[in-house]
Amino acid sequence: MKAAVRPRRPAAPALDVAALRREFPILSRKVHGKPLVYLDNAATTQKPRAVLEAVTRFSEEENANVQRAVHLLSQRATDAHEGAREKVRRFVNAREAREIVFTRGTTEAVNLVAQAWGRRHVGPGDEVLITAMEHHSNIVPWQMLRDEKGARLVVAPMDDAGDLVLPELERLLSPRTRIVAVAHVSNALGTVNRVAEIVRLAHARGVPVLVDGAQAAPHLRVDVQALDCDFYAFSGHKVYGPTGIGALYGKAALLEEMPPWQGGGDMILSVTFEKTHYNEVPHKFEAGTPNIAGAVGLGAALDWLGSAGRDAIEAHERDLLAYATDRASAVPGVRIVGTAREKAGVLSFTVEGVHPHDVGTVLDREGIAVRTGHHCAQPVMERLGIPATARASFAAYNTRDEVDALVAGLGRVREIFRR
Ligand code: PLP
Repeated sequence: MKAAVRPRRPAAPALDVAALRREFPILSRKVHGKPLVYLDNAATTQKPRAVLEAVTRFSEEENANVQRAVHLLSQRATDAHEGAREKVRRFVNAREAREIVFTRGTTEAVNLVAQAWGRRHVGPGDEVLITAMEHHSNIVPWQMLRDEKGARLVVAPMDDAGDLVLPELERLLSPRTRIVAVAHVSNALGTVNRVAEIVRLAHARGVPVLVDGAQAAPHLRVDVQALDCDFYAFSGHKVYGPTGIGALYGKAALLEEMPPWQGGGDMILSVTFEKTHYNEVPHKFEAGTPNIAGAVGLGAALDWLGSAGRDAIEAHERDLLAYATDRASAVPGVRIVGTAREKAGVLSFTVEGVHPHDVGTVLDREGIAVRTGHHCAQPVMERLGIPATARASFAAYNTRDEVDALVAGLGRVREIFRR
């Protein structure tokens, strides 16, 4: 009998990184006289020419305010804005474009849910369940809600490797849990959380789930229908798009019954001094003039990602992370922080006897941009008993040569601080 063959995803076509790098003007600049090695992509990615040009083209040819006028440019601007919404819908595989709310980014998206959904559904003694590896922007909005409502913030633990302890998360889902808010990928450790499983556990108890996708959207295919999450947030500037634009996906039924969170123009159907009738979703959540050019740039970024090939990018970044992990761990004194079973995009580390800021400063002199500090995840540092890490984070345009440059830079750090 023939052995059963497990079906495998076809191998992703290889990424032509050299060609792709040429699309990013900033990558050819020098820093302190050295070629730029940009490894701070978890903070923000660089922008390809397609994005820069889309924003300029919109500003030069179509700029007007949306939704208000009958004139041609306003219609063009509205089409461009709504076209970008459709591109976001496709990117996260939402059912309908009205399930996509434009925000300034992930932070604003989480605040929107904490305020608009939370104020209605969370009361005294209720619980919001988050995890030990959240970014501050998925902690503080819930603390603000907790303090306003007399609710409780409950934190699911992670282990020393940086993996969530799922049985504990399950145990902490109580009859008082009103929402679970969890990072898809940790920005400090790179851990990929088993979001579909978390959603399953929460839904079994009738609890909705918000996913902070800020660090997942650049690296992984996001499918909100497959995840079955209730809300999903991400930022444009981390997926090769402009700053100041991002999106919140919310299931239509949830968005429909949520009150608006900011009042103003565009979010209304009619206003008298006695009563205001709100606009339909998603416009109900988009008070005031939106970041139209930003949305156009985000749409162009998502197009760019699609044409570069998301599977190819994912495979390339996986290879880079594995290569960087091997090479950096071989440097004496370097300790990798975050060794979860599944990781994406992020290599956090410490160098024995050297403060991470000093590591970052020496690397910067070599032209290598990494981030140092607590990465807006102070509780993660506290949990691991360290004040900070240095973090190299990868994007589609990074190369093994750049990883080699990082490793050489770490050698330089050791030379300087051994003296
Ligand atoms: N969540 C995670 C996991 C992040 O890494 C970040 C940014 O680094 C954010 C949220 C906040 O994103 P933004 O500042 O774009 O709103």
